[in-house]
Amino acid sequence: MGDVKTESTAEVIRNMASELSGVSSRLEKLADDLERKGDWDAASEALSLVAGVIPNLRLDLLAARPIREFQYALADAKQAPAPAEPAAPAEPAAPAEPDNADEDIANQPYLLERVSYVKQHYNPKYGDHRLCQCGHPYERHFDSFEDMEAIGCKYCNCNDFVEADLTGEASS
Ligand SMILES: [Zn+2]
Ligand SMILES: [Zn+2]
Repeated sequence: MGDVKTESTAEVIRNMASELSGVSSRLEKLADDLERKGDWDAASEALSLVAGVIPNLRLDLLAARPIREFQYALADAKQAPAPAEPAAPAEPAAPAEPDNADEDIANQPYLLERVSYVKQHYNPKYGDHRLCQCGHPYERHFDSFEDMEAIGCKYCNCNDFVEADLTGEASS
């Protein structure tokens, strides 16, 4: 199996840290306002600030990103099984299949199947404003909040971008 990259999930956690430290310094200020000015609005603001912090943390990404990285790693492992990166230090070769595989399998709680799939990625060079047959631009077929994941058109149910034939329309 390929390496599961940790960067994007670490980024999620760091974003949480900075969100929380922003909240933290605002809370300090609200406490000061309450003490110095007797401003009780500060207390209710603190309440709504703390109550609202969890939805802003994007806890869902803590599951979504690792799963996606794991899928990428699986796909990579499938696509490029043999050639290791030349720069990588020599690692011990994967152990060969043991001869007594039948015997071993009786002790496996899970049978493993490696599943390969084709993942569609956003192409920054394609041109965000090129039009799809659905009438909406290329860039709208991706989720800008999720690393430009190919989610289909945001305006309609079009799943696959197919460039509109504008030349045909113009001549007819
Ligand atoms: Zn479309
Ligand atoms: Zn569309």
